[in-house]
Amino acid sequence: MTIRLLPEGVVNRIAAGEVIERPASVVKELVENALDAGASRIEITVEDGGRTLVRVSDDGEGIAADELALALARHATSKLADDDDLLAIHSLGFRGEALPSIGAVSRLAIASRRKGADAAYEITVEGGDIAPIRPAARARGTELIVSDLFFATPARLKFLKSARAEMLAIGEVVDRLAMANPHVGFVLSSDGRIARRFEPDHEPGGLARLAAIMGPAFADNALAIDAQREGIRLSGFAGVPTEHRASAQHQYLFVNQRPVRDRLLQGAVRAAYQDLVAGGRHPMLALFLSIDPHEVDVNVHPTKAEVRFRDAGLVRGLIIGALKSALAGAGHRASSSVSEAALGAFRPEGGRPDGGAGRQLPLAVHGGGTSFYSRPHSPPPRGLAESAAAFQSPHHAAPRDDAAMGEAADAAPLGHARAQVHGTYIVAQTTDGLVIVDQHAAHERIVFERMKAALDNGGVKRQMLLVPEIVELDQAAIERVAERAGELGELGLVIERFGTGAMIVREVPALLGQADVQSLVRDLADELAELGHAVALKEKLGEICATLACHSSIRAGRRLSAPEMDALLRQMETTPHAGQCNHGRPTYVELKLTDIERLFGRR
Ligand code: ADP
Ligand code: MG
Repeated sequence: MTIRLLPEGVVNRIAAGEVIERPASVVKELVENALDAGASRIEITVEDGGRTLVRVSDDGEGIAADELALALARHATSKLADDDDLLAIHSLGFRGEALPSIGAVSRLAIASRRKGADAAYEITVEGGDIAPIRPAARARGTELIVSDLFFATPARLKFLKSARAEMLAIGEVVDRLAMANPHVGFVLSSDGRIARRFEPDHEPGGLARLAAIMGPAFADNALAIDAQREGIRLSGFAGVPTEHRASAQHQYLFVNQRPVRDRLLQGAVRAAYQDLVAGGRHPMLALFLSIDPHEVDVNVHPTKAEVRFRDAGLVRGLIIGALKSALAGAGHRASSSVSEAALGAFRPEGGRPDGGAGRQLPLAVHGGGTSFYSRPHSPPPRGLAESAAAFQSPHHAAPRDDAAMGEAADAAPLGHARAQVHGTYIVAQTTDGLVIVDQHAAHERIVFERMKAALDNGGVKRQMLLVPEIVELDQAAIERVAERAGELGELGLVIERFGTGAMIVREVPALLGQADVQSLVRDLADELAELGHAVALKEKLGEICATLACHSSIRAGRRLSAPEMDALLRQMETTPHAGQCNHGRPTYVELKLTDIERLFGRR
C-alpha cells in the first residue's frame, strides 16, 4: 500500500479515541471550555448517563459567528497566541481537539452569542459533517448539545458502562471542576433530576464549596494549608488523620486550578501522613498548587490529567513540609465526627429520645467515624505478670474536686482524670464536657512520638535495670535479635547474647516505665522475623513502638492511679499527633456538655 494522509474525519475519530473516552470526558471538555470562557454559571444536563444527551450551557464570552466553524476545526484554538505559549498555559484547554473530536463521534450543536454581538448563531455537525451556520435564539453565552454519543463509532459504544456508572463518573468530573472554581455556580441534572447544585461561593478559600462536595465532617475538622516555597504556593485543606477512607478517591489535587491525578503529588501526601494513617487507609484532602506555568508541563497526555514539574523535588518538599507542619500544629485534635458517631451509639435503648419537635441526636453521617468503634485496639498479650511500677508523672497531680478544677482546666484541654473504666479507658472531666481516652492507644502514640524526637536528637533515654533480665529464646530468634542489637540500642534497648540459648537485657527505653521485658523481647523477635533483614528499624518505628508500648505499664488492662492518668493526659497534650494512635484510630473522644444534655433531652 502507498502512504497517504488520512482524511480529516478519520483523524478526528482517532483523536476522539484518546480525548473522548466516555460521556464524562465530554462533560469535562465542555465544562472546561465554559470555564475558559469566563462563565459564572454553568448548567449541565445529561440523559441516560450521557449516552443520549449531554448539554452544557454557560454565560461566558461566547463564540463569534464567523468563528463557529473554526471552533470545530482540528487544532483550532483561541487559547494560544503564538507557539511559545505552550510553555505558559493559563487556560484549561489549548490543544483545539475537543470539539472536532466530539463532532466526529456524535451529533453536536453549538449555539452561541458573542459578548457584545446583537444576535446568536448556531452550527451543527453529525459524525463529522458540518452544516451551514443558522441564526439562533440565545441571550448570552454558549450552549453545546451532544446527542447520541459514539453513534458513529459503535465499537466504543459497546464499552460504555451502565447509565449509573457513567453518571457517577460525570458527577466526579463536575465535583473536581467545581472545587477548583468555587466562584462559579454549577447545576448538574440527570434524567430530569438535579444531581448537584453548587451556588457561587465567594469566600476566600472555598471551604463552603469543599464542604458541599467532601461533606461537612471534612470541612469541620480540616486543617487549613497555606505555604509557599520559591514562588510556588500550596493552599487548601487537609483532613485530620482520623477522618480516613478506604481509597485515595477523596484526595483532590489541583495544579493551577486544573484537577490532576499525579503520582508525585499522591506520593507526597502519603509520605506526609505516613505515621498517622494505617496502611491501606487514606486521608481526605483538597490541595491547590499555584505555580508559574513555565515550571510545569501540562501537555503530557491528551486528557491533561497528568503533569510534569520542572523541579519535582521542590514541589514534593513543599507538600510534605506544609502537611506535616499543619498536622503537627493540630496537636491532639481528633475528628469531631468521631464524637458524633459516639453520640449516635449512646442512643438509649428502647427508642429514640426524640422528645418532641426538632430534638434529634446527631447521628454519624460520614463513613469513617462509626467504624472506629468496631475495631478494637490490639489487645494486650495475655498472661503477663502485672508490673507494679507506676508511670512516671512529671508533676504529681493530686486528685482534685470540681471547685479546684475550674481555673486549671484551661491549661488542660484534655481535663482531669476522674475514673478508669475496664482497666482500659480513662474518663476525664474538661471545662465543658468529658473526654474518654483509650490509654493504650494514647500511650502508644506518645512512645512513638518521643522515640522519633529522641532519635532525631541523638538517642533515646535509657533506664538501667537494677537486675538485668535474662530471656531464653530459640536459636533463630537469638540470631535475629543479636543482628539488630546495635539498632535496638539506639532505640533504648540494650541487649546481648548470654551463653547459649539466652540473651540478657541491661537497659530499656526510659519512657516505657516498668516494662515486661520477657515478653517484650519475645515479641520483638517475632516482629523482626516479620520485618525481614532489609528494613531498618527506624523505618518501621511505628511497629516497633507498638510492640514496645504493648509491654509497658500503660497497656490496656492495667489499673492506673489518678496521678498516672493525669500524667498521661498532660503528656498527650504536649505530644504531636496525640489525637490518633499509630494506626490512625482516635486515642480519645470528647463529649461536650451540650452533647450530654442532648442525650438526656435537655436541649
Ligand atoms: P481548546 O479548548 O483546546 O481551545 P476546543 O476544541 O475545546 O479546544 O474548543 C475550540 C475553541 O472553541 C476554543 O478555543 C474556544 O475559542 C471555543 N469555545 C469552545 N467552547 C466554548 C465556550 N463554551 N465558550 C466560548 N468559546 C468556546
Ligand atoms: Mg477545550
